[in-house]
Amino acid sequence: MAIGNAYFDDIRSKPEVVGPPQNEDKMDVVEQVNDPAQIALKPAVTVSSGVRELLECPVCLNAMYPPIHQCSNGHTLCSGCKPRVHNRCPTCRHELGNIRCLALEKVAASLELPCKYKSFGCMGIYPYYNKLKHESQCVFRPFNCPYAGSECTVIGGIPYLVAHLKDDHKVDMHTGSTFNHRYVKSNPREVENATWMLTVFSCFGQYFCLHFEAYLLGMAPVYIAFLRFMGDDNEAKNYSYSLDVGGNGRKMVWQGVPRSIRDSHRKVRDSFDGLIIERSMALFFSGGDRKELKLRVTGRIWKEQ
Ligand SMILES: [Zn+2]
Ligand SMILES: [Zn+2]
Ligand SMILES: [Zn+2]
Ligand SMILES: [Zn+2]
Repeated sequence: MAIGNAYFDDIRSKPEVVGPPQNEDKMDVVEQVNDPAQIALKPAVTVSSGVRELLECPVCLNAMYPPIHQCSNGHTLCSGCKPRVHNRCPTCRHELGNIRCLALEKVAASLELPCKYKSFGCMGIYPYYNKLKHESQCVFRPFNCPYAGSECTVIGGIPYLVAHLKDDHKVDMHTGSTFNHRYVKSNPREVENATWMLTVFSCFGQYFCLHFEAYLLGMAPVYIAFLRFMGDDNEAKNYSYSLDVGGNGRKMVWQGVPRSIRDSHRKVRDSFDGLIIERSMALFFSGGDRKELKLRVTGRIWKEQ
């Protein structure tokens, strides 16, 4: 199986998922999402689209949060865009000054809106100013495509992403919780042009991504293999996996916990949370004349009790 795909820097092009929330915030959100009684008590809120449009920044089209600015003619602007318009109102070109639009800020505070991931199953309704925080942690928020090394911007639920990996990225799919993989590369000296590979495993009704990658760790060419769980971190922790690789009577074994695909491929790699094999060792395992990489990686995934 050739590993010939070029590795591209994927970290900048993908929107970074917001980091784990503070404990206190998380509790708060979990309660609100999981407690149907609390949601049912809230009145159904219908906000006219006119009000929502008022809260949309005319420049970046994002929802505005305090401080909301306005020009002397009353045109509004978000605080993110204000420093970028050189003190000119983007709507009427008048001087912008430093006027806050308190009335609109108060209107916003009175609103309660559904989570933007409603179509993904979230039934939560949130005060305008809490909505962003909730959405950054919403358990229904879609996942980024886990395919490393591409600038893929596809997002979605897990079944959707599994179909996407298979159809659009032509990723190898395997059923079962044990695997035996051979990574072969005819010219392992070309590490500058790092290579990688992704395989998807389906077991326990879940999906796991096995990443294998060659890269330079400082000046040292290494290989890393690790597993990511297609789902959230709290579920990922219910599983463990082992990988082993060897040859010539030697063996290296790694046991770990799969990382959620909420953590980018790059983040997992850079935290060394996987089986790391130095190139000289990898070539030793490959046997022969050390000109070709032939690594056999075997592994197992299991559910913790
Ligand atoms: Zn804006
Ligand atoms: Zn204006
Ligand atoms: Zn939500
Ligand atoms: Zn993709």
